[in-house]
Amino acid sequence: MPQTILSVRDVTKSFGNLLALDAVSIDVEERKVSILVGPNGSGKTTLINVISGLYKPDTGKVIYQGKDVSGLPPYKLYSMGVARTFQIPALFWRLTVLENLLVAEKGNPGESFLKAFDIVGLKSWQNFFRPWRDTSSGWILITGLESVKAKFRAKKPAKMLDPRRIASFAIYFLGASMNPWIDFFTPAWEDREKQATRKAARILRLLGLSRLWNQPAYSLSGGQMKLVEIGRALMTDAKLLLLDEPVSGVNPTLAHEIFARILKLRDELGLTFFIVEHRLDIALKYVDHMFAMSLGRVIASGSPDVVLKDQRVIESYLGG
Ligand code: ADP
Ligand code: MG
Repeated sequence: MPQTILSVRDVTKSFGNLLALDAVSIDVEERKVSILVGPNGSGKTTLINVISGLYKPDTGKVIYQGKDVSGLPPYKLYSMGVARTFQIPALFWRLTVLENLLVAEKGNPGESFLKAFDIVGLKSWQNFFRPWRDTSSGWILITGLESVKAKFRAKKPAKMLDPRRIASFAIYFLGASMNPWIDFFTPAWEDREKQATRKAARILRLLGLSRLWNQPAYSLSGGQMKLVEIGRALMTDAKLLLLDEPVSGVNPTLAHEIFARILKLRDELGLTFFIVEHRLDIALKYVDHMFAMSLGRVIASGSPDVVLKDQRVIESYLGG
């Protein structure tokens, strides 16, 4: 049974006299790629703005994972796993691809004055006890070796265990048991940064951006910028990604690649995508579900081939 991750119920939004959203209701299924189409000015971006918390709906509700989230600010939704990208990419242009991902990491302890002093050893009992345990097992091994050596001595095969070898082994082992102490005193924020960097590297790999990790954002192509935006959304552990025209202005080859990556993310990370897209020639073969809007209303919903045959959809495209 597919689960509904997002429900929009009778949402209305107007700007002055203009009714941009007119009693819009949609259900978005979890782990699916849903696409929203419609002529320019039909209210698609406004709907994404309402869902992501940028605009408050005038009336109606937005339900995410069973909770009423209507009117919650974007950062709250973001912390609940709703992330979005913009029609025009908004990156930190002078930062590198990797840095653009790292800035999206949530709740690094270094952001708080007090937590900045935390060390890894004090974060959990396990972290606390590890170095003590490792050091003591190191000592046990060394004293064990010493007693073996003493036994050999007693039987006088003097050359069998070279004391220098034993000493270097002991030093090596002491060193190894010191490593957990280094971890113990590592500031918590540093540990988090290492984890975040590993996570960013994994996301860049999934998006096929690994070799660009050190490029400044301004030097990327339009399509690559869109991918970095998706990557940044993924850093937040988003469950639901709202993408506003992810392939507008992108060459067809890269546009197909972006959609192929979206399917991969859906399958490998179990993500849900709600995508506004104009370019049906590209998007169609990748989508599970389609919504069509016209003049602020949802006029059709269903599988793409059904929606595209809908008379009102055809008329609104030809007439719009
Ligand atoms: P789409 O993304 O489908 O092209 P939009 O949601 O951007 O359409 O816009 C729907 C309508 O609402 C348009 O007529 C647009 O001019 C209007 N609109 C959107 N945002 C605003 C705003 N912040 N202030 C005033 N009018 C707006
Ligand atoms: Mg738009």
